[in-house]
Amino acid sequence: MLPQTETSGDRVARLERRLQRERRAREEAEWLLEAKSLELYNANSHLTALANDLEMRVLDRTHELEVSRQQALFLAERDPLTTLANRVSFARDLDAAIRTAQAHGGSVQLLFADLDRFKEINDTYGHAVGDAVLLEVASRLSTICRGTEMAGRLGGDEFGVICITPVESERARQIATEIMEAMSKPIDCGRLQLIVSCSVGFANFPRDASDSPTLQRFADVALYHSKSSGRSTWTEFDDTMAAELHSRQGLEVELRAAVAAGEIEPWYQPIISAESNRIVGVEALARWQHAERGLILPGLFIPLAEESSLIVELGRAMIDRCCQEIHPLIRDGRLDYVSINLSPRHLRSPSVVEQVLKILARHDFPPSALQLEITESLLLFDFEQAEQRLSQFRTRGVRIALDDFGAGYSSLSYIRRLPLDVIKIDRSFARDISDDRQSEAVVKAIVQLAQALDLQIVAEGIETESQAERMTSCGCSIQQGYLFGRPMPLNELMRHLKAKGS
Ligand code: C2E
Ligand code: CA
Ligand code: CA
Repeated sequence: MLPQTETSGDRVARLERRLQRERRAREEAEWLLEAKSLELYNANSHLTALANDLEMRVLDRTHELEVSRQQALFLAERDPLTTLANRVSFARDLDAAIRTAQAHGGSVQLLFADLDRFKEINDTYGHAVGDAVLLEVASRLSTICRGTEMAGRLGGDEFGVICITPVESERARQIATEIMEAMSKPIDCGRLQLIVSCSVGFANFPRDASDSPTLQRFADVALYHSKSSGRSTWTEFDDTMAAELHSRQGLEVELRAAVAAGEIEPWYQPIISAESNRIVGVEALARWQHAERGLILPGLFIPLAEESSLIVELGRAMIDRCCQEIHPLIRDGRLDYVSINLSPRHLRSPSVVEQVLKILARHDFPPSALQLEITESLLLFDFEQAEQRLSQFRTRGVRIALDDFGAGYSSLSYIRRLPLDVIKIDRSFARDISDDRQSEAVVKAIVQLAQALDLQIVAEGIETESQAERMTSCGCSIQQGYLFGRPMPLNELMRHLKAKGS
């Protein structure tokens, strides 16, 4: 059968169908394409967002790293508590200042400042208070520095100031004076108000030293000088100090050996009763019989011993020897007591009570015939600890005397609160009493106070008959001084007692 020929109408219809099919296919393709590109677009945007996010994070991280790097740099250069320059960067700045002065002329002054008895503030009030004090000190130091001057914290309570001047100048002295003034103002630590003094020493480049290590050493020597001349003062280095320091260090080594070898011996000064005209007791005063220097007085070696725990050993040796030497005199009724100076540092040593009681027991020495003399300076810190130890002594029968009363801080509340038996009136009152009505009035007031508190009074430093009479008329009849006898070795004391009929 022959194929039917397509009519033109059929052909149009076929072509239209085809066209439709093709349109649908294109529309489908376009739709697919659109969907695909949307998908792609979405995917792309997501990727961009991811990339952006990543980029932001990288930027943040870089910033963080930079901040930590800056912080690390800051910490490497700065003291974290006070934010002053630390020891390392202070030393570097000092070196730089000296190099500049070497190259272009000018002078560099190095000041060291050290707080007096800061350790005791820390021990007594805790580290938070200690930190507050250091912060305030740092802030006061920064206020004093101007221009190129720079303050640093070199260690615990040690600070330094570098001062650069075109020619040698007065500036370091001025800074030192300003530091003293600034530190004399009380520091507020919450409910506490603390007074911290400080000592300053300084040296000058190129006048005193030609390099940085020597300058530092000399500033330190000057500081040491301030400390040993009673603290709370400033000292400018001069050449004599280095030699002095050298001989001082030599002396300390010798003193250590002398204490160990028993070469520190007690001398005894009579304490008399004006009423009975009898020697009632003696005060033991340390003497050092030095092979080359002869007799050395305690004013020279006691402060040296007090700088270290050597004073504890020295004090122990003194008490031991006094108990041994004086025991026969007590036993025979020729003396009532021996009075021995107890250093603040010795009283702070934890085993002091036990140590003294052991010595007493070993010599069979009656505790009531021992009197310990303490000074007020010890009471400024650790009042409660001191009070406790003194009470322990007293319950065992040992008597406690407050030495040099009226010479120092003389807080009347101490006398009331402390377990005391005796007050020794400082010898400055005896010196002034003959020609000063005010001293007489003060002595009378002290005597009245002592009587009210049931304390015995001893007047020290009596040199003349008139001083003795006036003290007696003020109600102070127990007396000690050159008038009745200077400190003397044991054999001389024996003769002296015999001559007095006891
Ligand atoms: P201190 O405890 O006030 O002792 C009295 C000082 O005054 C002694 O000086 C004594 O010789 C001196 N003196 C006594 N009568 C007179 C006087 O009429 N006029 C004058 N101008 N002075 C008089 P010394 O022996 O040089 O002792 C000085 C200080 O050394 C003592 O002062 C005491 O604080 C300390 N010291 C002495 N021995 C010891 C010791 O064994 N241990 C401790 N921790 N300190 C001691
Ligand atoms: Ca004394
Ligand atoms: Ca005294």
